[in-house]
Amino acid sequence: MAEENIFSKIIRREIPADILYQDDLVTAFRDISPKAPSHILIVTNVLIPTANDVTADDEAALGRLFTVAAKIALQEGIDEEGYRLIVNCNRHGGQEVYHLHMHLLGGKPLGPLVA
Ligand code: 5GP
Repeated sequence: MAEENIFSKIIRREIPADILYQDDLVTAFRDISPKAPSHILIVTNVLIPTANDVTADDEAALGRLFTVAAKIALQEGIDEEGYRLIVNCNRHGGQEVYHLHMHLLGGKPLGPLVA
């Protein structure tokens, strides 16, 4: 059993976050330390630690990450200009929170992917 983390507490609304969307599969909230004018995290409600741990059982939740990202991009008014979706995995990927999540970043030109 993977260890619970800060995102599990946000999903259960035990600690505050600016939650934009929640359903049975995913929760979306603003990143506490935004790297762009719009920086939203969309997380699976079930605890999947990393991209290495996904299984076929998770396909509905993983698909939902994309449909919710598109919905929020529209709400944020960044859909036309564009945005970036990122999933970090483990140390070399720069993952800090071991609870699978997609970053939605936009609202300014983001530059090249890798510095
Ligand atoms: P990672 O590096 O794991 O892909 O991204 C983790 C993200 O979670 C970081 O961008 C970080 O700013 C954000 N984060 C960490 N702790 C909290 C928190 O307590 N609340 C919110 N809203 N975001 C957090």
